[in-house]
Amino acid sequence: MDNLSNEDVVIDKLEEMMTWNTFARSLVNQHLAKGRLSPNQWAAAERMIAKMAANKVARDAKSVDVNVGKINDLLVHAKVKRPVFRAEGLKFSLAPITLKNGQPAANAGAVYVKAGDEYQGKISGGKFHAGRDCLDDTPQAVVRAAQDPRGVAVQYGRDTGICACCGRTLTDPVSIEMGIGPICAEKWGL
Ligand SMILES: [Zn+2]
Repeated sequence: MDNLSNEDVVIDKLEEMMTWNTFARSLVNQHLAKGRLSPNQWAAAERMIAKMAANKVARDAKSVDVNVGKINDLLVHAKVKRPVFRAEGLKFSLAPITLKNGQPAANAGAVYVKAGDEYQGKISGGKFHAGRDCLDDTPQAVVRAAQDPRGVAVQYGRDTGICACCGRTLTDPVSIEMGIGPICAEKWGL
């Protein structure tokens, strides 16, 4: 048995969250200033911690191993500003390498995944890490896209009539058959 009281454990967990969770930060600051929290505040803190833990379990269940090498190569070598690659109904893009203030970004090297404008998660360290709003179908779609990006891009273009690289409508019959616009095929090396 350790000597920590339940309240110590709760405060520890709140401190872990306080950089990004304003509610946790306000509770920690109040605890520091007054040396106590009200019973309602303790209960709210415990509910929030339990909910965060449940959310993490749900996210972990949707996280899968994925080799993002091929998509990463496409994004890194594409001769366009801020490349976005479309496949399997998802959008893949590179996480910024630096923050606006010039500091290195924590997610540098990761690939972000969106469905429409909804953030799904990121790929880093050989794994797709599902975000809070990740759809059930997304992890397997990420795996399929990563296995054969060119194949799924072509399929996407044929199915939707939209270029997987720039998102524009394919108008030329040859481009529709190819599944990729000719300019993008060249710029993306596809
Ligand atoms: Zn295009």
